Amino acid sequence: MPIKVLAPEVTSRIAAGEVIERPASVVKELIENSLDAGASQIIVEAQGGGAELIKVSDNGEGIPAAKAELAFYRYSTSKITNLDDLGKISSMGFRGEALPSIAAVAEVEVLTKAISENIGRFLYLKHGKVVRQESRSRSQGTTISVSHLFQQFPARRKFLKSESTESSHITHVVNQYALAFPGVKFALFLDHRLNLQTEGDGDLRQVVSKVYGLEVAQEMLDVIGRDALLEVIGLTSPLSLVRSNRSYLSLFVNRRWVYSPLLARAIEQAYHGLLMVGRYPITVINISLLAQEIDVNVHPAKTQVKFHHEQIIFSVVEKTIKGALDRTPIAKLKAVASPDIAWQWSNLEVKDREPVFAAPLLPLKLPVLRVLGQIANTYIIAEGPDGLYIIDQHAAHERILYDKIMAQWAQREVEVQGLLQPVTVELSPKDEEILRANMENLTQFGFVVESFGNRNYLIRSVPLLLGETKITAAIDLLLDTLNNKEDSVPWEEKVAQSLACHSAIKAGQQLSNDEIRELLRQLEQTQQPRTCPHGRPTVIHINSYQLEKDFGRRG
Ligand code: ADP
Ligand code: MG
Repeated sequence: MPIKVLAPEVTSRIAAGEVIERPASVVKELIENSLDAGASQIIVEAQGGGAELIKVSDNGEGIPAAKAELAFYRYSTSKITNLDDLGKISSMGFRGEALPSIAAVAEVEVLTKAISENIGRFLYLKHGKVVRQESRSRSQGTTISVSHLFQQFPARRKFLKSESTESSHITHVVNQYALAFPGVKFALFLDHRLNLQTEGDGDLRQVVSKVYGLEVAQEMLDVIGRDALLEVIGLTSPLSLVRSNRSYLSLFVNRRWVYSPLLARAIEQAYHGLLMVGRYPITVINISLLAQEIDVNVHPAKTQVKFHHEQIIFSVVEKTIKGALDRTPIAKLKAVASPDIAWQWSNLEVKDREPVFAAPLLPLKLPVLRVLGQIANTYIIAEGPDGLYIIDQHAAHERILYDKIMAQWAQREVEVQGLLQPVTVELSPKDEEILRANMENLTQFGFVVESFGNRNYLIRSVPLLLGETKITAAIDLLLDTLNNKEDSVPWEEKVAQSLACHSAIKAGQQLSNDEIRELLRQLEQTQQPRTCPHGRPTVIHINSYQLEKDFGRRG
């Protein structure tokens, strides 16, 4: 499509706004333009945190010489024409705002050559105006250099952080686009030093190795899911690989890098109950769907999308990630070192590749275990087909009881016991409030509680699971758990967690071999034998490879 200025009826519908906030925003817009131009190679260079210079070169289709100046007019774009197009955008850009916004706050040089032309075009712009223009030679593609960003705008320059902070924002942006487009070869130079280089061979795992390192790349699980509406593809970390914040989520919709609380929640939901509180996965996923299924014209920086079918998207993403976690990965392929390419692999070409043993991933299910004994009256030691297993008896029992009570709850058949001797409890004003707020819920779990004034309550029945011991302590723990508003755990899970925790075998309790075997048998049958309901591990596994390595039997 040729570049032209959009008609006013279209521009008035565009969610315009300030797009250039910091050097990384310039990098983002220029990379998007290169991608829209169909580039297969993009080189990004930045100096002085990008405030001094940002230069993006590509081998895309280029801008025809006669249209080069037009590209810097507000609302000039080659990507959409009319209102209809706004509803089905397939390019990264569509507003014709980026180049004029950049040229307004920096000095810009452009060197571009379109496929159809013999010679390239050079433009130099200051204060948004072309001050020099000439023919120059270049191979097909475009280079845009942006220097002295915000120099004429001291107030905005003041808002920039240190060079290293701005550089790290730039790195983040380039990393994200490299992850979104494994088929494009990216290079990033910061102050002349190579910071990132990808192969552009289409292998996402390969890009992950460049961004997060080889070990992470090897451990990541494949994510593949499909539905009539969408396709989800990517990689996600196993439970053994976690981070302490959410910044390791890379979410793309039709390869557009987006901030999406909906997708983030779907992913967290898939890991729910499997990770400790405050632990987050590393996930890279792209959602593909028809352009008509989303609205990308909702945010000035184009970093948000609105899905027309949020529910479906949420559940397919959650299910797909869960599926990835349940799948036992097949033998990993070995990384092959070569001089200029750090490593590469291909599942299709198995020739001269052997399985690697480095940290094999734990399947979620437990293998059959042979009990060796108990240590510190707290941990069970067992042998499995691949090494040694250490099991926390309390955590394991908690998992068993939790699954049991949740299963009963799902059937609305919680087993109840009437107490021969009703137990009286006196509650603090706060606990009384929590009890009253949850009274109906608790009845569904088998608690029959009667008030007899003065914050005194009579407990007539409790879930069978609790046995007859320490009912008062169980109630205390329960009200405490229900009162915890920090996590977003649904109330019934809180009740089940609390009951399981209270009733489970404690650390320090001696168990007979028969009791241990029964405990392991029941643990094996749970859905998530490797974590307790709070997300802490129930099992530590030291595999044969690790043992051999630690004893120096293997290099
Ligand atoms: P938009 O991307 O929304 O169209 P921009 O201001 O970012 O608006 O770019 C304006 C136009 O300049 C684009 O529509 C495109 O035609 C052209 N252009 C910009 N960068 C490049 C590039 N790297 N290669 C080819 N064409 C480009
Ligand atoms: Mg653009």
